[in-house]
Amino acid sequence: MIKKRILITGAAGFLGSHLCDRFIKEDFEVLAMDNLITGDLKNIEHLFRLPQFSFYEHDVSNFVHVSGKLDYILHFASPASPIDYLKIPIQTLKVGSLGTHHLLGLAKDKNARILVASTSEIYGDPHVHPQKEDYWGNVNPVGPRGVYDEAKRFQEAITMAYHTYHQVETRIVRIFNTYGPRMRLNDGRVLPAFIGQALRGEDLTIFGDGLQTRSFCFVDDLIEGIYRLLLSDYTGPVNIGNPDEITIKDFAEEITKLTNSKQKVVYKPLPTDDPTQRQPDISLAKKILGWEPKISRAEGLKITYEYFKSLPKENLYKKEHNDFERYIKK
Ligand code: UDP
Repeated sequence: MIKKRILITGAAGFLGSHLCDRFIKEDFEVLAMDNLITGDLKNIEHLFRLPQFSFYEHDVSNFVHVSGKLDYILHFASPASPIDYLKIPIQTLKVGSLGTHHLLGLAKDKNARILVASTSEIYGDPHVHPQKEDYWGNVNPVGPRGVYDEAKRFQEAITMAYHTYHQVETRIVRIFNTYGPRMRLNDGRVLPAFIGQALRGEDLTIFGDGLQTRSFCFVDDLIEGIYRLLLSDYTGPVNIGNPDEITIKDFAEEITKLTNSKQKVVYKPLPTDDPTQRQPDISLAKKILGWEPKISRAEGLKITYEYFKSLPKENLYKKEHNDFERYIKK
């Protein structure tokens, strides 16, 4: 039987690599694409020997060509952590806008269904809590986070336009804070930051007063939600995340206990426009996908901590393994 062919962009990244694993498991032929700026081939090297897996080093902000048929496209290429998109703001805007345009064009050409990775960041610093899909958000377009938030908002707009005007089959997932194995220790996000600090014996850095909240979803739950959404017939945006909300201060305490750390917490200034609260309303995903998260934070954190502990010790002290310089000079 001819396998379904799926193109996954951002395939060497945290979420992209887990999606590659899932679609290989579901017996798809997987075409993986990444420009390797924030991604790492180590995340997918176990797939290289498989005949149904191929990898293309390419920046989707440039024209994307794929030969042969395509059934599905998952657009997951983008820097996704605040420190990354602050380092490469223009590239972040380009991959969300031009990159999405190229992939929608490819979907139209191949008659493929496309799912794009949107984000809870499109709600900005929300005035509605928890966030439901019909909330339009509160984003500062000219603040430092605007490069990511507005690129993703544009992505949703152009995706809906391709659906409406070209009848492309589109899906939009709004992803809330997700964690798990293959996150980069040095990507600046709160979970790898805290675990890295604990493993190095450093104090945990809380930004602001620590009373801001996030709701963390374990990666396996997220991937299941995305898989179901892709195969569903729903075209509007769908929140996928874990509604179990926690303050960053309490989260630091959980990590301290988990890692048996003797360190204290230190307070640093809150980054500009850092959202004060975030929690997904997942009633839509429950209704249309029969989906809800299954893995508790306690379980998920244990698995993630084991992963970080298993990495070579030198990773803990690498400031940056990603070659932003090379990219910026291009
Ligand atoms: N944060 C923190 N210490 C850190 C890194 C992050 O207190 O070392 C805070 C950050 O200010 C934010 C929350 O943790 O309020 C989540 O940050 P992250 O960068 O993980 O994701 P996002 O802000 O995009 O949700």
